[in-house]
Amino acid sequence: MINVLFQSITPEVFVGLAFCFGLVVGSFLNVVILRLPQQLYAQWKEQSEEFLRVPQTAQDGPVETILRPPSKCSECGYAIKPWQNIPLLSYLLLRGRCANCSTSISMQYPLVELLTGIMVAVTACYYSGQVGVLYAVFFTLMLIALAGIDVREKLLPDQMTLPLLWVGLIANLNGFFVPLPDAVLGTIAGYLALWSVYWLFKLMTGKEGMGYGDFKLLAALGAWLGWQMLPLVILLSSIVGALMGIFMIIVGGKDRNLQIPFGPFLAAAGWIALIWGDKIMRDYSSAFSLY
Ligand SMILES: [Zn+2]
Repeated sequence: MINVLFQSITPEVFVGLAFCFGLVVGSFLNVVILRLPQQLYAQWKEQSEEFLRVPQTAQDGPVETILRPPSKCSECGYAIKPWQNIPLLSYLLLRGRCANCSTSISMQYPLVELLTGIMVAVTACYYSGQVGVLYAVFFTLMLIALAGIDVREKLLPDQMTLPLLWVGLIANLNGFFVPLPDAVLGTIAGYLALWSVYWLFKLMTGKEGMGYGDFKLLAALGAWLGWQMLPLVILLSSIVGALMGIFMIIVGGKDRNLQIPFGPFLAAAGWIALIWGDKIMRDYSSAFSLY
């Protein structure tokens, strides 16, 4: 029965289903992006107070975790009804405003949902029919959440970068994306590459150019993609990051010391490398090959 069902699914239907799945999970990623950092800050505050033996200050209301409370309007606290929580559609139906107080809803919600839908569909399309499609989708979702958190909070939580790293190594135990030795070397080289840049920059300028979360994220990308892909990831993320920086200085008139998180660029480059890395490398080497 299930076999018959699977055989009747055409590639178009499969990609469509993947897109819808992405929209729904994107909706959940929005919650992770908003609430995980708040949950971590509350934990760190509690631990610091305990360590410093200062009296515990009361939290401002109960800390929101990823699972509760259910979605509500951040302005008026109106509990969002299930039909108002349909990814993308509800945003369009409500014209981007809360049904109760008409405060405009952040563009982050539909953007993350749409982006997740598209990226999951592309990933599923590329890896369709392979066991590793689940790994590839997991990689995609984690990168979207990490990028979102870094944009908002300039933070790449260990709670996400480290599991991403471990799952990458597990996926490559059977060499699904790259052979295990390449993955292990990729992890080490990824961490050390940015660690060295960080220290060089710090010794030369006295400033901190990036955070330890960036090293761990590149280590995780190395675990998934292998060391051979790291130069491409660093190159892509630096180009896009530099363009973005110049754009923001010109358009926004922001000062040069403006901190732009590097994580989103690393995440974007890592995802591009997972899907098109081999093709880019092949085209590049054939373009420059003398043979
Ligand atoms: Zn409201």
